[in-house]
Amino acid sequence: MSAVAQFDLLVIGSGPAGQKAAIQGAKAGQRVAMIEREPGIGGACVYRGTIPSKTLRETALQLERLKRSAAVFEFRLRQDAAVSVLMHRMDEVVKAHAAYMSEQLARNGVSRFHGRARFLSDRLVEMLSVDGAKQRFTAETIVIATGSRPRAPRDIVIDHENILDSDSILSMIYLPRTLTVLGGGVVASEYASIFSLLGVEVTMIDRAERPVQFLDREIVGKFVQSFERQGGRYCGRQTVTDVRWDGVSQVVTTLADGRRITSDKLLVALGRQPNLEDLNLRAAGLALTEKGTLAVNAYCQTVVPHIYAVGDAIGPPGLASCAMEQGRRAVCHALGLPVSSMPETIPLGVYTIPEMASVGLDEAAATKQHGAPMVGRARFDEVARGQISGICDGLLKIVADPAGERLLGVQIVGEGATELIHLGQMALQNGTKIDAFVESIFNFPTLAEAYRVAALDIMGQRCKRAGQALQT
Ligand SMILES: Cc1cc2nc3c(=O)[nH]c(=O)nc-3n(C[C@H](O)[C@H](O)[C@H](O)COP(=O)(O)OP(=O)(O)OC[C@H]3O[C@@H](n4cnc5c(N)ncnc54)[C@H](O)[C@@H]3O)c2cc1C
Repeated sequence: MSAVAQFDLLVIGSGPAGQKAAIQGAKAGQRVAMIEREPGIGGACVYRGTIPSKTLRETALQLERLKRSAAVFEFRLRQDAAVSVLMHRMDEVVKAHAAYMSEQLARNGVSRFHGRARFLSDRLVEMLSVDGAKQRFTAETIVIATGSRPRAPRDIVIDHENILDSDSILSMIYLPRTLTVLGGGVVASEYASIFSLLGVEVTMIDRAERPVQFLDREIVGKFVQSFERQGGRYCGRQTVTDVRWDGVSQVVTTLADGRRITSDKLLVALGRQPNLEDLNLRAAGLALTEKGTLAVNAYCQTVVPHIYAVGDAIGPPGLASCAMEQGRRAVCHALGLPVSSMPETIPLGVYTIPEMASVGLDEAAATKQHGAPMVGRARFDEVARGQISGICDGLLKIVADPAGERLLGVQIVGEGATELIHLGQMALQNGTKIDAFVESIFNFPTLAEAYRVAALDIMGQRCKRAGQALQT
């Protein structure tokens, strides 16, 4: 065994959380090592999560645009279209992203190692390479950024051929004719709507009455409407009792009420589970929470002060956007660099078709906290850009305090929602008043104009209320 390699900062995992932690450390002049068990860097985000799913989504949207231009193009998707063809841009996108990240790590002098890491003590980490070689590392600060994998329910056999999870769904050779999706969370809803737009007959099944429960009811309602108009089906309040491959061509899903749903393929998307079991955490003095995550403080510091944990390893919200920021903040804290705690206004983006996004309080949360909030609405078919682009099933909601003056939150459904939400995020962070949306001049025609329309709606409600008060 070679001598123990000494570093200032050791990062385990090269996903968005690990990368930003490593780069921050290197920029602060630390000697940084990063251990990744896969041959490529980038984590689930690049190879099995964010980037592949969004690449397929982009193809689905392009097909949709072509279909909408049926008067100009004679267009129809080939029945034997291979998934790899629909994903043709993925290799390019992944390669470009991986190359950019590798360059960035190299430029900043981060030393990269490939193998599986595990703790031998709170200061000592051992890496096992694929060729069986072992190497040991020690560092002043250690960051655990090992991410997550799809949760595999005990009673469903995922064979990655007929019954797939979100890691294997894109390895299908051809588009199935029919697809059952188990789950109603973000990943389930994203894939269900993408495949539906690609012409697959999709049935989503979940225990909850509606998908993406944590988002505004009206916004999700619009999404479900759009999904069902597209041919998809959402079966809520259902319990699945059995899932099995019939050995010939179909997956049979049995529900508690006895109904059987058959489909060519089935996607199990029932949440994610942190990758922490292989780390031998006990040797480091760490233990898992009941949920299988690592408990951390506001700076992502574990109970062992020089060990930090970031990204999906610490659980919700399970977003690449948050993972990156946690990585950066953890290292700043470890090095005593100025750092505030995580902002409260984290935007959520759900890349369903149509997109959904949210920041701050939604109507239900504002009602609980502030009584009766004033809510302004703008439908995308009311703004010129929505009409021009044919994005008519969109809705933007501005939630204000009961006086209709202070912004409390924004929720949007419709293409462009995940970009548009940032305007609401900045307004919220800066305490912008509702009237400022009306007094500002927005480019025309843009979807951002919807903010003005929704604010005008609130102003109108205020005037009406003032008028009523005068009359009484
Ligand atoms: C289908 C899908 C779509 C998504 N879409 C979005 C989206 O649109 N927007 C968004 O913000 N988020 C999205 N996410 C979530 C996002 O991918 C994750 O939140 C993000 O990847 C978490 O980053 P991370 O760095 O914590 O972990 P990961 O990206 O999972 O990286 C962890 C890395 O650690 C490595 N590792 C694990 N154990 C060890 C070990 N013992 N030794 C060495 N290396 C190890 C793994 O190989 C992996 O490379 C999506 C996820 C999925 C599944």
